[in-house]
Amino acid sequence: MNIKNYIESIPDFPKKGIMFRDITPILAHPEAMRYVTGQIVEFAKKVDANLIVAPEARGFFFGTPAAIEANIGFAPVRKPGKLPRETMSVTYELEYGEDELQMHVDAIHEGDRVLIVDDLLATGGTVDAIVRLVESRKAKVVGIAFVIELDDLKGREKFKDIPVLALTHYE
Ligand code: IMP
Repeated sequence: MNIKNYIESIPDFPKKGIMFRDITPILAHPEAMRYVTGQIVEFAKKVDANLIVAPEARGFFFGTPAAIEANIGFAPVRKPGKLPRETMSVTYELEYGEDELQMHVDAIHEGDRVLIVDDLLATGGTVDAIVRLVESRKAKVVGIAFVIELDDLKGREKFKDIPVLALTHYE
């Protein structure tokens, strides 16, 4: 399947000069969802993951169906103030300023083999922060899966020792 047929490119969103890659047509087409889920599940099995971890909101779209299909657990990564129980936090650099992500402390256990799933790899800053959260629990990130990789930003170079799956690429 050519998954690009289910990705729309929107110029100047959310601000001028940015080409936004919109994955919502994938959600609207079960054959595309089935394809994406299947690819992530195959990768999850190959790297022997026992847990999928994904950031809100677009990571949830692909992480949860893959976790069900692979018969493994799922744990959400959220913006601050959203998770009701004891949380752990990580901060990461943005172009201007910094941002924070949280997980429940009991969502990851020592020895877990974690597959991180998100819709798109740009600079890799988001997923790099999630890797630090997972490793702080003495768990291991055994793979990272994206629907889209933006090759020119070279985000993949942040993850030299971790297998990275990207289903399609843009400059
Ligand atoms: P990074 O942290 O620089 O790799 O940025 C990746 C994060 O930004 C992901 O969570 C994406 O959902 C989001 N993102 C950046 N650009 C786009 C885009 O063009 N389409 C959809 N999401 C994007």
